[in-house]
Amino acid sequence: MADPPADLRSDTVTRPTTAMRAAMAAAEVGDDVFGDDPTVNALEAEVAALFGHQAALFCPTGSMANQIALQLLVPPGGELLAGADAHVVSYESGAAAALGGISTRTWPSAGAALDAGQIAAMIRPAGYPSVATRAIAVEQTHNLGGGGIVDLDTLRALRAAADAAGVTLHCDGARIWHAHIADGVPLRGYGELFDTLSVCLSKGLGAPVGSLVVGSADRMAEARLLRKRLGGGMRQVGILAAAGRYALAHHLTRLADDHARARRLASALEPLGVVDATGVRTNLVMLDLGKAPLDAPSLVAAAAERGVLLAAMLPRTARLVTHLDVDDADIDRAIDVLTTLLTA
Ligand SMILES: *Cc1c(COP(=O)(O)O)cnc(C)c1O
Repeated sequence: MADPPADLRSDTVTRPTTAMRAAMAAAEVGDDVFGDDPTVNALEAEVAALFGHQAALFCPTGSMANQIALQLLVPPGGELLAGADAHVVSYESGAAAALGGISTRTWPSAGAALDAGQIAAMIRPAGYPSVATRAIAVEQTHNLGGGGIVDLDTLRALRAAADAAGVTLHCDGARIWHAHIADGVPLRGYGELFDTLSVCLSKGLGAPVGSLVVGSADRMAEARLLRKRLGGGMRQVGILAAAGRYALAHHLTRLADDHARARRLASALEPLGVVDATGVRTNLVMLDLGKAPLDAPSLVAAAAERGVLLAAMLPRTARLVTHLDVDDADIDRAIDVLTTLLTA
């Protein structure tokens, strides 16, 4: 029998481990719409404390967590500033506009290399004869930016600009865990810079489902209503929250292994001219196929035939992601297959 493929498409493909399933099976549960699920309540308290905020709210997806946060921060007709390649702009089906009535203006794609001065200059105050800016959204780590980390000085400058203008700051922190592990910045250090954050348990941490939105107690009370409106009020969902609690306790520090594997992969592929390994800081490896013999869909198809799965992000950009279910042998195989295919 052939080995299962090395699945480097996304860190969402992980299956819950046996120990995680045991924690899920043993979870105490209740009806979370009534606030009665002790495991959900414990997870929300734990995550709020990790980020130094008052409260958190468990959501089925990161997209819902982001959209709830944006609706908290930006009233209908208000403006959000975000990167042109941000998840909230490009991968959430236009939800900010369609569901929140939010007007979005973008800064040019820069990945995690944000120019705080440029963003600050885009802010339009209330009373300005155009749409008033109400919030700025920053992605940490940056997905299309190849898992890049926005540095603390830039975030502090954005916080200062937001405060000066009376606007709010949201962090799409689907992979903020990776930034924390890679740079050693405490989660609270990030938490104190943002009005709201969204965090994912189902990416690198390996839970099957789940994200949280984090913020003040008042905002989270309102977030609970917005979640219900979006159809995200769940019942005995402690079964899933237990997976998240297990993931935080057991799968956080091991992200360093994923980062090391991503770096090894990038270093091996660097001579092919498709990636700058020094730019690989976390668990994402973006391949720039601009000069490669294959475009992204062709590379994805050819690698899949050889037992290596990766994702086509843009016509000439492919992504490889390390995670809980990728081991050293998978990395060796990916290096072999991609080297063969990209050596024209
Ligand atoms: C995955 C991801 C999300 C949330 O995605 P869901 O699939 O809705 O859970 C949000 N932001 C970023 C940057 C992501 O990578």
